[in-house]
Amino acid sequence: MMSVSLAGKTAIITGSNSGIGLGVARALAGAGADVVLNSFTDSPEDHALAAGIGQEFGVQARYLSADMSNPEACRELIAAAGRCDILVNNAGIQHVAPVESFPIAKWDQIIAINLSSAFHTTAAALPMMRAAGWGRIVNIASAHGLTASPFKSAYIAAKHGVVGLSKTVALETAEEAITCNAICPGYVLTPLVEAQIPATMAEYGMEREEVVRNVMLARQPSKQFATVEQIGGSTVFLCSEAAAQITGTTLSIDGGWTAL
Ligand code: NAD
Repeated sequence: MMSVSLAGKTAIITGSNSGIGLGVARALAGAGADVVLNSFTDSPEDHALAAGIGQEFGVQARYLSADMSNPEACRELIAAAGRCDILVNNAGIQHVAPVESFPIAKWDQIIAINLSSAFHTTAAALPMMRAAGWGRIVNIASAHGLTASPFKSAYIAAKHGVVGLSKTVALETAEEAITCNAICPGYVLTPLVEAQIPATMAEYGMEREEVVRNVMLARQPSKQFATVEQIGGSTVFLCSEAAAQITGTTLSIDGGWTAL
């Protein structure tokens, strides 16, 4: 694998006390970036997680609590970090229901956390990137930012919105050393997904392998989950010099889902 040094850069990763966000934070720290972890929980475990990453990779690692459903809190997170060379908008939630009975509060919450937070953090981070003369924005969208499934109206609308926002920010920064792209993962094996396997096995009366292949990965032609390490490695790549002319586009990590 190519070696990328992000030493001296500060990366803020929203929603990074678990799953993909944590994997991305670890990958960026592994490349030498100082990292700011975030969630809304503010528990001793969150702070310990950041301290552990700092020790493991020899970088500065902090945890800053901020609720990404709150516009002011999104902007204050960036201000509190004091510097932002790399912004990874990752915080996200899901809710599944038919459109006619989709709870209004859930729609508003998903649009706020999965889409609007990226607008607010980007607006706050861009002046810092411009002052530093360099910046990378990586938005964690989804295969559902490019294609749809039933019963996920808010999530799919938000993720398509994230792809559109990424293109717009890329055009507004095109002549500067700043890029903005969206990563579109298919199904990624996070603790949350892993935890769904036993219940799905019981529901369908299937073995683990059958559930993974025929239920969970039904639309992922590779029949393999993507990993948080792969999402992290791709984020590091988008932050590298090799990716300096990659902007305003999407990077699918979906085992062929969107080729169908
Ligand atoms: P996860 O539940 O493990 O992580 C979500 C993160 O967002 C957590 O750190 C959580 O604390 C944080 N978060 C939730 N609400 C928040 C709020 N109000 N304020 C601040 N932080 C908040 O899930 P994940 O699978 O790691 O998902 C991370 C991102 O990747 C999401 O945007 C998700 O849509 C996207 N994604 C996941 C998959 C997958 O298969 N796991 C596939 C495609 C895209």
